[in-house]
Amino acid sequence: MQENPCAVYTQLQLHVNSVLVKLVELSQAIHGAFLNGDESEVSRLDRELEGEIGRKERALGALRQHVKEHECVPSRSRQLE
Ligand SMILES: [Zn+2]
Repeated sequence: MQENPCAVYTQLQLHVNSVLVKLVELSQAIHGAFLNGDESEVSRLDRELEGEIGRKERALGALRQHVKEHECVPSRSRQLE
């Protein structure tokens, strides 16, 4: 019987969490620049956000793939709160 969540799951979950936090921070920064009318900063941060969305896709994909292959059961991220 598998440890639940297993160590790999926990590691992937932590990675997803950090990428999601980064997306929130970037979105807030873009919002701030937008409110300030700083169009060049909005553009710069928007490109950064695009890259971060790619990392989020891969991080979530890796987590789902692991759950499928290892038959881990997704757990709430209580330890991250
Ligand atoms: Zn696992």
